[in-house]
Amino acid sequence: MQIETAIFLGAGASKAEGAPLQSEMFYEYFSSNSFKHSHDEMDRELASFFQLIFGIDVDHNHYDKSSFPTFEETLGLTDLAILRKEALKGFDIENRASKSGRLRNIAQYLMYLVAKVLDSKLEYSKNVHRTLLKGLNEGNKLKNTVFISTNYDILIDNAISEMRDKGFDLDYGVEFRNFERINDWQRPKAARSVFLFKPHGSLNWLYCPTCNSLEITPKEKGVVTRLIVKYQAATCGACGSPFMPIIVPPTFYKDLNNVFLSTIWNKSENILRKAKHIIFCGYSFPDADMHIKYLLKRVQTNRNNSLKFTVFNYHDGKKACDIESEQNRFKRFLGDNVNYYLDKSFEDFAENPMLYYK
Ligand SMILES: [Zn+2]
Repeated sequence: MQIETAIFLGAGASKAEGAPLQSEMFYEYFSSNSFKHSHDEMDRELASFFQLIFGIDVDHNHYDKSSFPTFEETLGLTDLAILRKEALKGFDIENRASKSGRLRNIAQYLMYLVAKVLDSKLEYSKNVHRTLLKGLNEGNKLKNTVFISTNYDILIDNAISEMRDKGFDLDYGVEFRNFERINDWQRPKAARSVFLFKPHGSLNWLYCPTCNSLEITPKEKGVVTRLIVKYQAATCGACGSPFMPIIVPPTFYKDLNNVFLSTIWNKSENILRKAKHIIFCGYSFPDADMHIKYLLKRVQTNRNNSLKFTVFNYHDGKKACDIESEQNRFKRFLGDNVNYYLDKSFEDFAENPMLYYK
């Protein structure tokens, strides 16, 4: 099937469904009731990490929404320390210290935390993604569309997998071990595939570093697929190793070497090169996303036809100065072929996608 259009989903698309932004992740988690009543090791370790490294007392509400660093900054700290084989005070990497490996555990706990926060919010979605899929199907354009999402949540994933009865299979572009089992996820059929590429990973993927294989969380009644929130308990059925999440914030260049993620990047590039139109939804084109910019520039310049871009980034309360600087950011990098809607949101696009498709 000929791919004509790519829909590119950023953090703003999930925000439209009620998901918290990166900058609100920690506030959401530590102010939740489940944290307040929790005594498990993960929560105790996170509390002491935020106390010792950021001076925030999460146990006694001595904070507000703006007190916390962003998720990416925090994971950036632990990741850089691990990469450099250095420790943060009180948090060692593997050595002879009594709490050896504490830093690596914190890095994992931070990912579990994000999974828990996002999972708890998925119930409240406003069906924007579903509305979009419905409109695309009615316009007979679903097969000509590829989705690229920089989000770790599974809003678009669920919306696509719910189209099974209508003749479509969610296709992440990589191989999952589930495909070998009966009564589990089936390998998508080429004629039914709707591609969803997640170049920064996904919180419903479980990676076994020993088998170097990937699994997807099982389907559950009511919800097509869930985020994995109990990584601590999740171990590989073949070798017994603990599963690891695959989420790679944009600044973590080294982790893109993972074989599954590099396949996804490669397939994204090849498919985007054929697309004629890229539609950005809630994607702010941040400076940190250099890999995405690199990908876009490559597909824009290496082609015979021209590539146009449309941007739906508006949301209520967005300041005029932010809109202007964002528009400049897109046009400065991608040129004049950018149609930036000053007052149209992801919801507006999802309501009537055919209006903007052409
Ligand atoms: Zn394994």
